[in-house]
Amino acid sequence: MTTRHPSSDRFPVRNGELTVGGMPLSRLAARVGATPFYAYDRALLKQRVEELRAVLPSAISLHYAMKANPMPAVVCTMAGLVDGLDVASGAELRVALDAGMDPREISFAGPGKSEVELAQAVAAGILINIESVREVRLLADIASRLGCPARVAVRVNPDYELKSSGMKMGGGPKQFGIDAEQVPEVLAEIGGAGLGFEGFHIFSGSQNLRAEAICEAQTKGLDLAVRLAAHAPSQVTTVNLGGGFGIPYFPGERPLDLPAIGSHLHGIVESAGVRLPGAELVIELGRFLVGEAGVYVARVIDRKVSRGEVFLVTDGGLHHHLAASGNFGQVIRKNYPVQVGTRGHDAPREVASVVGPLCTPLDLLADRMELAAAQPGDLIVVFQSGAYGRSASPMQFLSHPAALEVLV
Ligand SMILES: *Cc1c(COP(=O)(O)O)cnc(C)c1O
Repeated sequence: MTTRHPSSDRFPVRNGELTVGGMPLSRLAARVGATPFYAYDRALLKQRVEELRAVLPSAISLHYAMKANPMPAVVCTMAGLVDGLDVASGAELRVALDAGMDPREISFAGPGKSEVELAQAVAAGILINIESVREVRLLADIASRLGCPARVAVRVNPDYELKSSGMKMGGGPKQFGIDAEQVPEVLAEIGGAGLGFEGFHIFSGSQNLRAEAICEAQTKGLDLAVRLAAHAPSQVTTVNLGGGFGIPYFPGERPLDLPAIGSHLHGIVESAGVRLPGAELVIELGRFLVGEAGVYVARVIDRKVSRGEVFLVTDGGLHHHLAASGNFGQVIRKNYPVQVGTRGHDAPREVASVVGPLCTPLDLLADRMELAAAQPGDLIVVFQSGAYGRSASPMQFLSHPAALEVLV
C-alpha cells in the first residue's frame, strides 16, 4: 500500500525532503532548535477558512473552538480569520482576549465552570453557554456583585444524536448541556434571575465525515431552537448549531463534502429568517479548521530489528501526541498518516513500526507501516496533527522534555 495521504500534498516533498510552509524539514528543525515539535502552517489555516467561506452563506458566523489548538500564535491568526472564538476554560479565555477578539464574539461552553471562571466571563463581557441550574444561580450572584450584566445562552443536550459521529456529545444522558425537556424550566429561572438571555447552543458531536448526518443535525438543531424559543424570556438573537465537521485520518476515509453542507446551510438560513427572525446563526469548528494544517515531527534515535521486525525509536511519542498513538477516544487503533520527512517518495521502502521512548507498548506512532527506510537522525512526520495534539497529551508522563510548537 503506497497510496499517499492527501496531507502529503499540503506539505510537498522537494529535493527529497518534506516542506512546511515552503521550508525544508531539516532546516525547520534547526530553526526550532530541538525535536520533537509541532509545526502549523499559517497559509493552510487561511486557505481552510477561505474554502469554508466560499461555500457557507454569508449570514453564517464562523467560530473557532480553540481547545482544538490553543497555541497563542494560532489563536491570534484564527482571530483574524473567523467571526468569533469559543473557549472552554478561563485560561483559554485569557488567550482569546489577548488575541484581540471582540468579547462580544467570544463564547464559553463546558461543564463544571468554576466560580472564578464564570466571574472572568462576566467581567469580560462574553457569552456564557449555561450547562446547569447551578450556573444560572452563580451567574445571578456574580452579575450583581460585579455590577455588570451576564450574557447567557442555554446549551441544550438535544433529544436526538448526531449520527456516525466519532465522539458523541449530545443525545441521551450526557454531562454536557441541559436536557431539552428541562430547558423551559431553566429559561424561566434565567428570566427570573435577570440574566441577559441571548439564545441556544446545540452541539451534538465531533469528527463526523458524513455531510448528510451533519445536515440532519443542523436541521434538527434549528427545529429544537424554534421549539424552545417559545419558552424564552426574551428574543432569541443567537443560535449556535455546533459543528462536528471531521477530517480524514485513516485509509478509506474521504474528506467531508463541504459544498453539500454549504447548500444545506443556505436552506437553514432561509428557514431561520422566517422562524427565528433576527437570530444570528453560528457554527463552531475546531478540528476542521486547524487539524490538517499541522504536523508533528520527531527524530529517529535508534533503529532496532526485533525478530525480523523493524522498530524506529524516536524522541517523540504518546506523551506528545496521544491521539496518534490511538489512545484518545479511538476504539480500534489505526495508524495516523505518517511519513519519513527526510526521504523522498522514491527512496527504498520497508515495513517499520515507529515508537517513542516511553516504557509502554502503547507508545506507538505507527504500527507496521510501509515507510521510506529510515536511519537515526531522520525526521518522522505525523500528518493531521494540528488539532487535539500537544494540548490533548499527557506531556508529563516519564518526564521527558515537552514538545515545542511553531507557526510557519
Ligand atoms: C470541542 C468542542 C467544539 C469543537 O469540536 P471539533 O470537533 O474540534 O470541531 C465545538 N464546540 C464545543 C462546545 C466543544 O466542546
